[in-house]
Amino acid sequence: MSISSLKEARRAPGAEWLKNHPRFLEKAYLLSKSIIAKTYPWMQKVSPRLANRFMVRSEEVLKGWAFNCQMCGQCVLHSTGMTCPMNCPKNLRNGPCGGVRHNGNCEVVPDMPCVWVQAWQRSQQMTVYVNDIQVIQAPVNRSLQGTSSWANMLDGKDTQTPKGW
Ligand code: SF4
Repeated sequence: MSISSLKEARRAPGAEWLKNHPRFLEKAYLLSKSIIAKTYPWMQKVSPRLANRFMVRSEEVLKGWAFNCQMCGQCVLHSTGMTCPMNCPKNLRNGPCGGVRHNGNCEVVPDMPCVWVQAWQRSQQMTVYVNDIQVIQAPVNRSLQGTSSWANMLDGKDTQTPKGW
């Protein structure tokens, strides 16, 4: 892919405003986590296939709108100030790289604010997860692409390291 063909991360209407309120999102995350932990096992008992479909579609729609979620299947939003790291053109899970411009923009897409600069600024407004951005993340497991990160979190798949790593 040539650099000129890279596009700035999609910014859905209202989503930037929401992401600029990470403390609110942090509370919403904690609430959603507890609701999903209670309801997903019950949904799985009724129909594992439908439960999985529901989770994937919900994430595609809700997180797609709010965070431009790329469905990596291993969500680290709470560690990155509720800013999706997969919107970084380099897909860095630990950042920023050394190419941040003086104005805080990306070296690959110069009109785009660096995802990791935003992640740092937003993470510092959080209360529960304020220090999680300093935890080194493992490389993203591409075999989970397209799956539900919520389901993977409950199944423990998001923290498993594939054989050979
Ligand atoms: S699941 Fe992955 S791609 Fe989606 S918001 Fe979370 S970190 Fe970003």
